Amino acid sequence: MATHFKYIILGGGVAAGYAAKEFFNSGIKSGELAIISKESVAPYERPALSKAYLFPEGAPRLPGFHTCVGSGGERLVPEWYAENGIELILNTEIVKADLTRKTLESSVGRIFEFDILIIATGATFIKLTDFGVEGANAKGIYYLREIDDADTLFEGVRDKVGGKAVVVGGGYIGLELAASLIINKLDVTIVYPEPWCMPRLFTAEIADFYERYYQNKGIKIIKGTVAAGFESDASGHVNLVKLKDGRELSADIVVVGVGARPLINLFKGQVDEERGGIKVDSYFRTSVPAVYAVGDVATFPLPLYNDKRRVEHVDHARKSAIQAVQHIKASEEGESIAEYYYLPYFYSRSFDLSWQFYGDNVGDLVVFGQRDPLVPKAKFGAYWIKDGRVMGAFLESGTPEENKAIAKVAKLRPEVESREALAASGLDFATNV
Ligand SMILES: Cc1cc2nc3c(=O)[nH]c(=O)nc-3n(C[C@H](O)[C@H](O)[C@H](O)COP(=O)(O)OP(=O)(O)OC[C@H]3O[C@@H](n4cnc5c(N)ncnc54)[C@H](O)[C@@H]3O)c2cc1C
Repeated sequence: MATHFKYIILGGGVAAGYAAKEFFNSGIKSGELAIISKESVAPYERPALSKAYLFPEGAPRLPGFHTCVGSGGERLVPEWYAENGIELILNTEIVKADLTRKTLESSVGRIFEFDILIIATGATFIKLTDFGVEGANAKGIYYLREIDDADTLFEGVRDKVGGKAVVVGGGYIGLELAASLIINKLDVTIVYPEPWCMPRLFTAEIADFYERYYQNKGIKIIKGTVAAGFESDASGHVNLVKLKDGRELSADIVVVGVGARPLINLFKGQVDEERGGIKVDSYFRTSVPAVYAVGDVATFPLPLYNDKRRVEHVDHARKSAIQAVQHIKASEEGESIAEYYYLPYFYSRSFDLSWQFYGDNVGDLVVFGQRDPLVPKAKFGAYWIKDGRVMGAFLESGTPEENKAIAKVAKLRPEVESREALAASGLDFATNV
């Protein structure tokens, strides 16, 4: 027999936690809302997994980082859901969705019916086996998305302290994990094909700071090539990484962060798609009535840049979930809400470093501040200028007030006199806007 809920959130990640809190804030009756998740724990702040979670000592553990602590909100422990009549249906993978019949089917044949569905299935890591990389199935090659992956990686790291680690990928996950691995006293090498790290956001000037900082910490960086194959010992555990340029790196552990893909297969042919995600409007409504999509899976309108984007970042996961729930509740009252007006915001933290970026990284770059990574607490930033206006702003080691100031600049997009004047005023430009 099918179990019916008025509202179902499919997925139990960041967006799900923030959506549940918003449903609670706007008023729901006991038994109306369910979260269905293949994970075994209540929604948590996923970014924690690649940061202090892997530290050898003092690492945070659940329930410490359940949503919504990441944005300074209430920590929703499992009891909170029970006390508020929200069903947390965990360890439950949905393998079939029929959006016309409004049903979901789990891997063990359980059927759920909904009146309104919020798709919040997020993304999953791209595996090297997806590209047919030889030997990539070996033991000791790790990926990271969910808490179970983090626990497996934590055990793997503990077993190999003092050994050699190779990190494949120079995005933020690769960089954050490389920092955690060296803190665990592994000998770390990062490999990536691009000419510098974080190539989708960083320019050569920005990346140079981080690469030198990492090298100074003892992390080796190999650029311009990829892991083309792996060799294993007699037990099937990886012991060698073969690079495309012919070099070979011995390895006791390999951690891969080469990108993610949104989990939208369940809905193929049922919802409109755009730019690799589920197409939604400014309220996160899909092309199917009563079905919303939020977080990493959604391709949404970005009026600030007259564009449509799919964004794999936590800030958008939180805000899109809140927007969808507010729209659902307002519609029930025959009311309307403002369109989603998102300012892209990304951040990362590793070692003593912490950067924030707001806006769009288009146009020419103006860099300011101290970019010598050997200077303690070096603070520097950058503005992206297009058609005489600031489009994006980046800051390393900013205070909360300074980060607010660069966010304001990116939102207001003020005109600039000249690149030289902007470089000379640096952070003052943002704080005076
Ligand atoms: C290790 C790591 C570090 C990160 N660090 C940062 C950071 O520093 N800054 C930043 O801005 N962003 C960061 N991100 C990205 C950010 O965490 C994501 O953008 C955010 O989690 C997206 O939220 P979501 O709810 O859309 O998806 P998720 O949080 O991934 O949640 C998706 C949920 O759906 C569940 N699910 C999927 N399919 C099914 C199914 N068929 N049946 C049942 N359940 C299903 C999953 O198990 C999961 O619980 C990081 C991501 C990772 C993996």
